[in-house]
This record gives sequence, C-alpha cells and structure tokens, in this order.
Amino acid sequence: MLLDQFSILVAIGFSGASLGLTLCMMWVVGKSETHLLSWSIGLALIVAGVAFFGSIIQRYDANLLLVSFVLLMSGFGLLYAGSAKFCSSRFNWFTVFAVVGLGVLSTSAAFAMGYSGTGTIAANVVIGMLLLLTAFQYWTARAESPLLMAANATLYLIAALSFVACGYALAEQGQFVLTARPSNWAEDINSIVVIAGLTGIGTLSLTLNQARIANRHKSEAMTDALTGLLNRQALFDGPPGHVPVGTAVVAMDLDHFKTINDRFGHDSGDRTLKAFAEIIAANVRSDDLAARIGGEEFCIVMLNSSPRASAAVAERIRAQIEAMSVPTPLGPIRTTVSGGIAHATGSETIQSLLIRADEALYEAKTSGRNRVKLSNFGLAA
Ligand code: GH3
Ligand code: MG
Ligand code: MG
Repeated sequence: MLLDQFSILVAIGFSGASLGLTLCMMWVVGKSETHLLSWSIGLALIVAGVAFFGSIIQRYDANLLLVSFVLLMSGFGLLYAGSAKFCSSRFNWFTVFAVVGLGVLSTSAAFAMGYSGTGTIAANVVIGMLLLLTAFQYWTARAESPLLMAANATLYLIAALSFVACGYALAEQGQFVLTARPSNWAEDINSIVVIAGLTGIGTLSLTLNQARIANRHKSEAMTDALTGLLNRQALFDGPPGHVPVGTAVVAMDLDHFKTINDRFGHDSGDRTLKAFAEIIAANVRSDDLAARIGGEEFCIVMLNSSPRASAAVAERIRAQIEAMSVPTPLGPIRTTVSGGIAHATGSETIQSLLIRADEALYEAKTSGRNRVKLSNFGLAA
C-alpha cells in the first residue's frame, strides 16, 4: 500500500476527533439538538477504539483488540442513535442497546474462548449492521432533502459493506484465532472507506443539520407565536402578484374584544384568541391559508372558492364562535365575531382583496356585529 496502516489510523483518529469536537461545540450552542451530542460522544468512542486498534500494530495483544472493538461498537451504536433521532421522531434506545449489547457479548465470549478471529468477525459484522441501520434511517427520511439524505445513506451503506467485508475476509481465510492484527485486502479497503466516509458523512450531516435549522427559523418567522397560524408577514411576503379568479379572502374580527380583555384580563383574552384560531383551523381545507393579521383580526385565503362556499365557511365559524365558551376564573367568556368576504372576480392582488374584505367587515360591524358581509354581494349570513 502507498500509505502504511498506522498513518491511515492516525489520520482517521485526528479527523474523527476534530469532527467530534465540532459537533460537540454545536451541541453546546443548541442543547436541544441531542443528536449532536450522540454523534460527538460516538465519534469520541470511535477515536478511542481506533487508538487501541493502532496500538496493536507494533505488538499484538488480544485484550487490546477486544477493547478496541467494544469501543468501536459502542461508538457506531451512538452514531446510529444520533442519526435515528435526527431522521425520525419515533426513535427508541432499544434497538441500539440490543444490537450493541449482542455485539459486545458475542465478541467478548469469542475472545474469552481464545477465538479472537471469530470475535473480530462478529465485531465487524455488528458494526456493519449498525452502519446499515444508520443508512436505512437516512434513506427512509430522504423526502426532507432527497440528494443529501440519499448521499449520506449511500456513504453509510458503503462503510457497512467495507466492515462486513473485513469479517468475510477473515472467515474466508479460516482465521478464527489471530496471532497478529487482522491485515488483508478488506482491511486496506476499509481504512480508505472510513477516512473518506468520515469526511463525506461529517460534511453532509453538518449541512443537513444547518439546513434543518434554517428551515425551522423560516417557518418560525412565518408563524404567529400565540395561535400557531400564519402571521401577517407570511401572507404578504410573497411577490405582489395577481391571484386567480375564484380566490376568496375572509377577514374576521372578534366583537368588543377590548371589553373581554378589560373584564377577564389579558391572559384570558389570549386564550380566547387561541380558541378562535382553533375554530378557524378546524374549518379550513388543507390548501387554504389561515393567518392572524392583527391583534384579534384573522384572515382566510381560499383558492377556487365560490361566494356561496366561502360565505358558508365564514358563517360556520361565526356560529361556532357564538356557541363557544372559554372558562376562566372570573366565569366563562362568551363572544361573537364579524366577518367580511371579498372574491377575486378579475385582476386583483391579495392586498386589494383584503382591503375589500375589510370594508365588508366594517359594514358587518356598523350594521350590528355578529354577522358576515360579502363585498359587492350584500348580506351573506
Ligand atoms: P370591535 O367590535 O369594533 O372590533 O371592538 P374591539 O374592542 O374588538 O376592537 P378594538 O380594535 O377597539 O380593540 C381590539 C383589542 O384587542 C385591543 C387590544 O387590547 C386587544 N388585543 C390586541 N392584540 C391582543 C393580544 O395579543 N392579546 C390580547 N389578549 N388582546 C389583544
Ligand atoms: Mg374587534
Ligand atoms: Mg380589530
């Protein structure tokens, strides 16, 4: 080989350690990202395992080889745990403990009986399984970022195959008892795959992590913190283009909300706003947009809607608000809501539709509240 095994192991150790340190610092910055902690501890264990593996190059010692495998299996187990946490919300530790536990037991038992080669085969197969499980996690979660997730899955798959090949090479040569560190074509390939995989997987994982944080910030910037609906910015931030004919904008505003705040307090007022938002969310279709555009003013944008259909939705919401009762320490809050609807009949923007919906809403307020008015179409409900 061009490079000797020892130099390659030193390179793996240093790049693994610096990647682990980077991940650890990222975890310190955002402690809720526990997958970063799993990854960095996993890498620390792998680096320690590589150090033990390197130590037997000069003088073979079965005990040090066993320690190396226990550290490597635990480290790859933690990499899997971190990736499973990152890729899926349904992560549990059972698979990690089961695979690593079985691996440590079978490897230790083989070493204890003097079959260090068999133990080495078992450890390589178990590490291969952990890497395969990790690859599967990224593959199943690839919808989030198809290219990067699939690339990470592929790198983990190649690494898995290179470890299984190490086990296979020993089994094929019948080396069930070792007298020196394993050295064959599969070990050579494995070293190169690990050093290349570490860089590739490390970079991809960090990129995926940052992309997810950026997406979360974007979605938080578009969400109203109190109600979880879209905020005003989200509704109007797009290019000020024209909306298709058939688009409806419904503006709704709670009646005499100031007196509710004055009588029941701001917290109870907030709970009323949340209950109002829940009723809106329950009454819109998945492709409608529902947003809180002011203190107690909400807006629904419906595509492909007729005046009759949008008025029916607004009327349903109005009736449900009228029937709603929000319990508070000072007694139940009962309230009503007024609404205004505007339909795009020609060339219009969301902004101009909202102005017309607001005019209809103002008409609903001045004509007695607790009603829905249709812009240009008169009384709807
Ligand atoms: P109208 O029927 O004409 O709409 O009367 P109103 O009292 O609902 O309208 P007005 O615009 O006079 O008052 C709106 C009130 O909404 C005033 C403000 O204290 C309250 N408000 C705005 N944002 C919030 C909020 O986030 N939480 C709570 N609790 N109250 C809010
Ligand atoms: Mg109001
Ligand atoms: Mg208002």
